[in-house]
Amino acid sequence: MAICENKDWSKTDLKYIWHPCSQMKDYEELPPIVIDHGEGMYLYDVNGKRYVDVISSWWCNLLGHCNPHINDEIKKQLDSLEHVIFANFSNKQAIRLCERLSKILPEGLCKFNFTDNGSSAIEAAMKVSFQYHQQTGNPQKTRFMALTDAYHGETIGALSVGGCDLYSELYKPILMDIVRIEGPDCYRCPFGKDREHCACECAQKAAETFKKYGKETSALLVEPLLQGSAGMKVYPPLYLKKLRELCTEYNVHLIADEIATGYGRTGKMFAFNHAGVSPDIMCLSKGLTGGYMPCALFVTTQKIYDAFYDEYNTHKAFMHSHTYSGNPLACAAANAVLDLLEDGSILKKANENAIYFNRIIKEKFASHKNVGDIRHIGLINAIELVKDTQTKEPLDSRLRTGYQIYKKALKKGVLLRPLGDVIYFNPPLIISRDDMDFVTDVALECLLEVLPE
Ligand SMILES: *Cc1c(COP(=O)(O)O)cnc(C)c1O
Repeated sequence: MAICENKDWSKTDLKYIWHPCSQMKDYEELPPIVIDHGEGMYLYDVNGKRYVDVISSWWCNLLGHCNPHINDEIKKQLDSLEHVIFANFSNKQAIRLCERLSKILPEGLCKFNFTDNGSSAIEAAMKVSFQYHQQTGNPQKTRFMALTDAYHGETIGALSVGGCDLYSELYKPILMDIVRIEGPDCYRCPFGKDREHCACECAQKAAETFKKYGKETSALLVEPLLQGSAGMKVYPPLYLKKLRELCTEYNVHLIADEIATGYGRTGKMFAFNHAGVSPDIMCLSKGLTGGYMPCALFVTTQKIYDAFYDEYNTHKAFMHSHTYSGNPLACAAANAVLDLLEDGSILKKANENAIYFNRIIKEKFASHKNVGDIRHIGLINAIELVKDTQTKEPLDSRLRTGYQIYKKALKKGVLLRPLGDVIYFNPPLIISRDDMDFVTDVALECLLEVLPE
């Protein structure tokens, strides 16, 4: 196939495609960048221009684009089985994947249920929690709790538990009524503490909410340690421990949404590892297949599983399915990812590099008059821009400062995509120091062009 000019591809794209999470009018000025191929950290468009993918293509690419080992494993699987129904039937890749994951997940998580995207895994987890309580003598447990600024996906149920108005405000009339816990906000801590020196005083808010609504609540959903879509907000592991205690006390399931935090993003394989406690249900996607294939799952405990296990006519089964559950190509990619992570060397190097990354980001950005907060966990670093660093007053969102920086960085070959006015880096675990130097230099240049000192 001949490669056309980028503008022809873009034109045809815009004729047919309605892009996700986009005001399509913006594409008049910034047409879609049509990518031809990828390698490691780099994406190349149809004109051969290179972009450093420092956001892991929506936080899912874990070990680089076109990773040779993952490519090979998918190709091998392709020649033996592409898909098979997952009710009554199974496949070797899915079985192997669950056996391997069960050995590295937080203790007690051992029963796997597949979906094909993160939002669906969240919804399935919510349904399973609700049904568990229905079948174990607690029919009053019909509600869900979630934190302010939470993000759990964008289908109706997942959007309901989310707390980012940008995505959910308009749809409120058709969303579920959620019990909202005022969550941690370390940059603007209402107790005047900072993340490294606090006793998670804010957990008191959660305790109050449990006291009021714990009885009628089925599950609490939480993004452990990192509220990604909220602007990469980071909070301490102690907070998770406190939530675990509350959930146990009130017989509320703790659902860990590790869709963004799983697979080493926070420096450990799973964010819950930092807290040393286990959730009752965990949802995985994104890094699960290295960012290759749509695949997701929830994994839960024997105890929850057992509440569904009975004679068929008791109607206790979990009647939930997705066509592509347990897809063998996706599971082959997921197994290939585990092959690469197994000996721990990639994560070890990523953690060494994470120290370097955070250091140079602080050196380059901390003194800028609009940099309010620099926060990090694992290789993820976020820079929150504000109007006034003393009052922490945000920039006028109508100025779209983050978006201006995004456009400038694209010109210079870096894919940044800030969340509002939070510039962040969430690179694949394999990022090199040269690339860290490059992307931070470019980000600083762009910041200075948009907000000169
Ligand atoms: C991406 C994400 C989801 C939703 O996953 P999709 O596959 O996009 O539906 C849910 N929770 C978190 C924390 C995420 O980052």
